[in-house]
Amino acid sequence: MKIDLTPILNGEVKELPFTFTENVPAETLESRFKGLDMAPDGDVTVSGKLTDISGYYEISLDASLRCATHCARCGKEMNTVCTCSLRLIASKDAERAEDEGYIVYSDREIELDGPVYEELSISFPSKPLCKEDCRGLCPVCGADLNTESCEHSEKEEKDTL
Ligand SMILES: [Zn+2]
Ligand SMILES: [Zn+2]
Repeated sequence: MKIDLTPILNGEVKELPFTFTENVPAETLESRFKGLDMAPDGDVTVSGKLTDISGYYEISLDASLRCATHCARCGKEMNTVCTCSLRLIASKDAERAEDEGYIVYSDREIELDGPVYEELSISFPSKPLCKEDCRGLCPVCGADLNTESCEHSEKEEKDTL
């Protein structure tokens, strides 16, 4: 995901819209999404714009990635869409590389992969739910309480009444 700065550098435009659709690279899955219970179920899509604000570039974008995961309560396989929004200042100063909200570039293009995938991995829900009121599994017998009831869950309900 690279923004080609040529039209901006040539002074043709002040604003550069962009969209990208791509497969999440395998090495990114290994490094960025390691430890997360998620498997991409489609391409990542990114859209936004770069604006030339005399002297520096401002980038704003939205990214989304559909992925497969498991419900944190009942363990059922489910799909979710991981989304994030980013605002970045593009800088040529390499010392900015570690600064929050900055993206460093060196030539005629800006590589977005790093910040986009980092933000997506941070935005991934730590406890995805198959539905808002998922009742989960019985801790004793493992029955899926969304579809069945067991003696333990019935007892629990009686106790709380
Ligand atoms: Zn569930
Ligand atoms: Zn039970």
